[in-house]
Amino acid sequence: MTAAPPKPVAPKIGFVSLGCPKALVDSERIITRLRAEGYELSASYEGADAVVVNTCGFLNSAKEESLAAIGEALAENGRVIVTGCLGVEADRIRAAYPDVLAITGPHQYEAVVAEVHKAVPRPHDPFLDLVPPQGVRLTPRHYAYVKISEGCNNMCSFCIIPALRGRLVSRPLGEVMREAERLVAAGVQELLVISQDTSAYGLDLGYAKSAWRGQDHETRFLSLAEALGSLGVWVRLHYVYPYPHVDQVLKLMAEGRVLPYLDIPFQHASPKVLKAMRRPAHQEKTLERIGRWRETCPDLALRSTFIVGFPGETEEDFELLLDWLSEARLSRVGCFKYENVDGARANALPGHVPEEVKEERYDRLMRHQQAISAELLGTRVGKTVEVMVDEVDEGGAVARSHWDAPEIDGNVYLRGETGLKPGDRVSVMVEAADDYDLFARRIDAEVFRPVPVG
Ligand code: SF4
Repeated sequence: MTAAPPKPVAPKIGFVSLGCPKALVDSERIITRLRAEGYELSASYEGADAVVVNTCGFLNSAKEESLAAIGEALAENGRVIVTGCLGVEADRIRAAYPDVLAITGPHQYEAVVAEVHKAVPRPHDPFLDLVPPQGVRLTPRHYAYVKISEGCNNMCSFCIIPALRGRLVSRPLGEVMREAERLVAAGVQELLVISQDTSAYGLDLGYAKSAWRGQDHETRFLSLAEALGSLGVWVRLHYVYPYPHVDQVLKLMAEGRVLPYLDIPFQHASPKVLKAMRRPAHQEKTLERIGRWRETCPDLALRSTFIVGFPGETEEDFELLLDWLSEARLSRVGCFKYENVDGARANALPGHVPEEVKEERYDRLMRHQQAISAELLGTRVGKTVEVMVDEVDEGGAVARSHWDAPEIDGNVYLRGETGLKPGDRVSVMVEAADDYDLFARRIDAEVFRPVPVG
């Protein structure tokens, strides 16, 4: 009897993923492809045959972080392929690190994988069943980002993403929905819709019809929200702009079909600053629109980000922003101090704000919003809400409500609930709140625990 030939050792690739959720989805696609081809992932530099670094090039500080990550991977492993947003600055990377094996740009999946093939020849093992149908994901099993488009047609003066990633390219609705179905079948309980401009979805395709479940659906924001809302899982919408057609989605939120949550990067409230930023929808009367949304869906949580110290921002503009925040009463707010980005038109604007003024405005905005957040969370006390569990330890469960996105918003703490599992959905009574988080107890014994298929 002849012994079976030894199973070939799969080549191992290390992966460093930097940047925003959109870059994370790019990483997931590259890793899915590599795993499908038989490569294994290495958790350490020393165990890897080569390392892919997916970089971020949005802000100068992110570029520095990306360059440092490339340097670390080179020092620890020596065989490094660079991809992602910083990849468009290949000269800069080569000047700092002439030894990198290859450099590719954002969403160049084929090119990255081709470079991996050159560096570490792809394995041949026809017996390996390599990848689950939902692909490889870097998020926990119970939630997943779904990227619905690439690129952006806007021209914000502080941003170079359109130059990095090109103009809007939407994925047909049927393609997005089939990916969403695979994720749900694998046990995902929350789909987080991302893109550069979610409300512009389908514009580039002329809202062309796309088949899903035997019917044609327009590739547009509302149809996608309706279709995702029919899957029975939480659906959260990120990077939406306050265009009039967003109003229609609020009805789906009021009906409980998608989560009553909108992530809208307002960036500022002063018309003068918004104009200088060249923001989409900068002429919209956003406070009136928010008021109408709340009439349709009183439970709505709004998250946003703001830039302080944009060139030309005066004390008056900044105070207008604080007043706007008092009126808008947003649930969650992130804030950035303006910084130049190589290649952005805002660099040349007059009236750059001194660093100490940016710092002071940042602190004032965060303190201002902290009080609003605490007051809003206080209104949740005594309410019954559904939460989803993210983590469980010996002290209890850490969960999130409809009003909280993973990683960026607050938590709901359930003391003593050690029998729950990540992805479980339970009803709780909110007992207390602090500036950012809620504290609650379970009020029913029933746990919605999905059974993954396949
Ligand atoms: S909407 Fe503006 S900030 Fe966002 S990606 Fe497009 S250009 Fe950049």
